Order: sequence, then structure tokens, then C-alpha cells
Amino acid sequence: MPTVREHYDFAIIGMGIGGLTLGALLARHGKKVVILEQHEVPGGYGHSFHQGGFSFCAELHYVWDCGPGERVYQMLRKLDLEDQVTFTRLNPDGFDRIVGPGVDYTIGSGFDREQRRLAERFPEHAGGLARYFSIVSTIHRQLYDLPIGFDWRTVFGHPRRYSHIIKYIRWTLQDLFDQLDFPLALRLILAGQSAIFWMPPRDLSLLVQAGGVGSYDQGAYYPAQSFLHVMKSLLRRVREQPGCLAKLKTEVTGIEVAGKHCRAVMTAAGERFTADQFLFDADAQLSLDLIGREHFPAHFLRKLQYEYGPSVVSVYLGLQDLDLRQYGFGDHNIFWHPDVDLNRVYDEQLADRIPERPYFFCNSPTLRPHDASLAPPGGSQLVLVAPCRYEFFKQLRQRGEDLYQQAKQQYADAILGVVESEFVPGLSRHIVQRVVGSPLTNEHFVRAPHGNCYSTPLDPRHVNLNRLNYKSPFPNLYYVGASSCLPGFATIIHFACMLYERLTGDRVYK
Ligand SMILES: Cc1cc2nc3c(=O)[nH]c(=O)nc-3n(C[C@H](O)[C@H](O)[C@H](O)COP(=O)(O)OP(=O)(O)OC[C@H]3O[C@@H](n4cnc5c(N)ncnc54)[C@H](O)[C@@H]3O)c2cc1C
Repeated sequence: MPTVREHYDFAIIGMGIGGLTLGALLARHGKKVVILEQHEVPGGYGHSFHQGGFSFCAELHYVWDCGPGERVYQMLRKLDLEDQVTFTRLNPDGFDRIVGPGVDYTIGSGFDREQRRLAERFPEHAGGLARYFSIVSTIHRQLYDLPIGFDWRTVFGHPRRYSHIIKYIRWTLQDLFDQLDFPLALRLILAGQSAIFWMPPRDLSLLVQAGGVGSYDQGAYYPAQSFLHVMKSLLRRVREQPGCLAKLKTEVTGIEVAGKHCRAVMTAAGERFTADQFLFDADAQLSLDLIGREHFPAHFLRKLQYEYGPSVVSVYLGLQDLDLRQYGFGDHNIFWHPDVDLNRVYDEQLADRIPERPYFFCNSPTLRPHDASLAPPGGSQLVLVAPCRYEFFKQLRQRGEDLYQQAKQQYADAILGVVESEFVPGLSRHIVQRVVGSPLTNEHFVRAPHGNCYSTPLDPRHVNLNRLNYKSPFPNLYYVGASSCLPGFATIIHFACMLYERLTGDRVYK
């Protein structure tokens, strides 16, 4: 018999950034909240882990919308956390360095400035660049204006307000590049931040490109303490509220349904929590297993039949006695490409083998503002991430644990080989901690099916007006998180705030 716990206003499944934001806001609003997380630490992809005196954030590198008055700030202010959880802006003159054959370009803030700089470099494309930045900034502005739960009625009901969303909803980034006849080097620069989407121009939704690069253009940020501090602060807001409960190491194994409504969550430890409303922060397809497919109408099952996007190999290095600044590192990110053709880069990377010279994205969190938790005295961090295919690692593990472990390390060696040859000769001599994560690591620790980074692929087949939003077929169950809005720290916080406003009638945004 399950142990029956108290009744709650809200039961939240998962402590990713979406679950934590809603949990903190609802608890602060006086709601009785229970929030359950299967992992031993909060944060989902934004969690941190410790190794040999270093604290590495799993999968958050830099974020947007965190400046004074911006959306993340407004959420923090609502929670009285705006003085405790602060963010520092990365250098607006250059925060993303794109490196590839014949290309070394550092992107900074200000589309006007970027347009000018690029037009000097590619004068024959000055007109095309003006058009590119005009389209991207208009799409970006219109996306920011969309309400929660928007669908085709919202958009087509306001054809002027959402003109560019309507026009470009089916476009890939490459469609625009082709129309403007941009050369490969210019395409590489403009799409060089593809590691924030893990999609090449051929597949990437133009809307997603505009949303992402437009947001970073307005300010790229990093927490002044650490992402761990952000997650812990949100969790504290739940824990300190009388009548609320936050439990780690608590896997939800079932959601009970009575008639058309959800009634209770069951945990692996045999507990049962009843609640009026339920918020689901795990990948939405997992709700099928927890609730039972038979409870979902056919049209909604189709909505949940999305594919998963690429996964990554992540390499976390703890270094000693090395000043990365001397090798061109700073507070910016570096995106390194073995080929100027980004479509070819992804073809090679997502094939079922370890690339000889893998494409990767990297940064050094210790060269950004941080608290002492990130590294021991004299130590520094270097974190490198490369896209890969889940199935490659999955099949290796099915063939044998040794084969899988070996491949993971070989993949990391290949990435480090490039770092040594291109950026930091002798890097290996300074490595005192080395942790390698694969798609199966993501699957294990944050229950990301297929180790997916961003839920669905961010292509026009998945990012369109039929995309899943917060609504489920159950009137008291809502989806939050990457699969029901779009991925990313600030995006998910924004959707969580809008959902909070809808559920409570209370305001986060002035
Ligand atoms: C490689 C990589 C790099 C990224 N870089 C950035 C970046 O630089 N900036 C940025 O803004 N975004 C970045 N992202 C995206 C961002 O990390 C995610 O979109 C975001 O953190 C997802 O939050 P979420 O709320 O959807 O929940 P998730 O992080 O997916 O968390 C869901 C939580 O639910 C829990 N859970 C699942 N099933 C159960 C269950 N049955 N019972 C209890 N708990 C359960 C999981 O353990 C997990 O903690 C990156 C992602 C990846 C993979």
C-alpha cells in the first residue's frame, strides 16, 4: 500500500528550471506545493556536479534576458531574489568567437554594429546583410510578443502583428542564406552559434535562429555566483514556505487519473501525493508512460509523437597551473569548426563514428565572474561540448560496457587533440580532473530520452504552430519545460512566468 501524504494545491514533477521557477513562484504566492525530483541534485540540465574540488555546471553555458528589468530579473524580483541572484553581462564587444578554415570572427552585441562590420568584410553582400538583419530582428521582436499557448488562430488572427512569423514559419536558415546568395564563409559566421541549437542551416528553423541570436544580441549573461546558486536559491523559496515540500531522489513512477482529471502522483518509494493541479517538467513524452497511453485522446498522442534532436559529448576539465587567457580564452565562447561548410560539419559529426577532428563549442567558466565553488585555488575549468548521435553510443553499450566507455574517452581525446593543436599546446599536462558525459549520461541523470539536448529537433517540422504547448488533455495537468515551449534557461523561465500568471491571476511582469 502506498504511503498517503498530505494533499497539495500543486504537485510538480521535475526540478528543471521550469519546475523550479513555477515551484518557487507558487510557493511564494501561498500555494501548497510538492516538487519531486528523481536526481540527487536540483536543476535538471542546469544542475552542477562536484569532482576533485571542482564544481561543474552540467549544461548551461550562457543565458539571455537577465539584465535589469528583463524577464529573468522580473521573476527574481517577484521572489525577492534580485539582490541575491545576480548576473554579469559578457563582453558586449565580443562574446562568441567563431573559428573555422579562413574564419576567425568574434560576434558582439548590436545588429547594426554587426551588419557594419560584416559589410566591411563582405562588401558585395552589404545589401543582403541589411536584409538578413532586418528579417531576423523583426522575427525576434514578433516572437517576444507571442502569448503563452499561442496557436495558428493567435498568429493568423493578427496578420500584421505576426507578419514575419507567418511568412517565415516554414523556412530554414539555409532558405534565407540561399535567397540572399551568401558565400560559405559568411554563412559560417552568421550560423556559427549553431551550437546553441545543435542544427546546421539546412535544418534549423529560421524562427529559432532569429529568436536565439536576437536574444543573445541584446545581452549574453552569466550568473555572478554560479548556476548552482541560481538553482539552490529557487529551491530554497519552495522549502522555506510552510506546508510546501521539495524532495530530491524521489522518482515519480505514476500519475493517477480519475475520470478526466489527474488525481495523485506515485513515487518509487511507494508514496502517494494528491493535488488539485499538476505541472510536468520532464520531457512531455514521458507523461505517456506515467499516466498511461490509454488515457490520451488520439489527436494528442499525435502531438506527443515528436522526434528527439541531437545529443552531445561533454568534456569537463579541471586544470591547474594554466592561465587560459594566454591562449586566447576569456569570458567568451569559442565555436571551432573543421570545415567552412556547416552542413558538412554536422553530417560528419552525426555519422556513426568518432570524427577525427570534431566540431565543438567551449568556454572557461572560471574566466567569468564566479564564486569560489567552481575551482580550488589556482585551478580553472574548461568545458567542451560536441554534438553527436545517441544511437551511436547506445549501440556500443548494447555491444559491451567496455566498448562504450572506450568510445566516450576516444571522443574526448579527439576533441582535446584539436584543442592542443589549435589553441593550447600542452593542455594535457594541466588536466587534474576529466569527466566525460555522453548521450547516455544525459539520459541517466536528467531522464532526457535519447540524451536529447533540446527535446525536439529545432527544425520547421517541429517548431511550428502545431507544437505542443502547456496544455494537456487533462484540465489540471500542464506541461512546462523544453518540450512544451522552446529550450533555454530564459525561454523556459519566461513560459513558466506566463503559466504562473495564468494559473493564479497574479502578475510577474509589470
Ligand atoms: C549541451 C547543452 C547545452 C546547453 N546550453 C545552454 C545554454 O548555454 N543556455 C541556455 O539557456 N540553455 C542551454 N541548454 C538548454 C537548457 O539547459 C535546457 O533547455 C533547460 O535546462 C531545460 O529545463 P527544463 O525545465 O525543460 O527541465 P530539464 O532540465 O529537462 O529537467 C527535467 C527534470 O525532471 C526530472 N525528472 C524526469 N523524470 C522524472 C520523474 N519520473 N520523477 C522525478 N523527476 C523526473 C529530471 O531528473 C530533471 O531534473 C543546453 C542544453 C544542453 C543539453
